[in-house]
Parts: sequence; structure tokens; C-alpha cells
Amino acid sequence: MTPPRTDYRALPGERGHVVLYRQTETNTCPGCGGSNWLVGRIMAECARCQTAIPLMSPLTPGITTEGNH
Ligand SMILES: [Zn+2]
Repeated sequence: MTPPRTDYRALPGERGHVVLYRQTETNTCPGCGGSNWLVGRIMAECARCQTAIPLMSPLTPGITTEGNH
């Protein structure tokens, strides 16, 4: 009888939680703990360590498909 093997590939160990910039809240940088951000159109960049995180816009709940003209 062979013992049952555990498939560790099924465990979500590598992917942590996704950090998103919330414009309605104070955001703490996951890299340096700072709270000064350079907010762009789709990304916010930490003013201290340049960590960039995507914006979470409360106005657009879904991802809009860009037209290819
Ligand atoms: Zn930072």
C-alpha cells in the first residue's frame, strides 16, 4: 500500500494577497510603510521607494475593454 501523496502545487503558497491602491483610503506602502503616493491613471507609485501598485477605482467596477481602432 502506498501512502497518499499531498500535491503541494495546489496550495496557494506563492501568491500573496494583491495590494491595490484605494483612492478613498489612506494607503500604506507594502515596501517601506510610507503613505505618500504619486497617483497616475492606472498605477500609484510610492514617493519614497517607487513601489508601484495598481489602482482600484470605485467608479469602474469592471475592467473596461479598450477599443482597437
Ligand atoms: Zn514605499
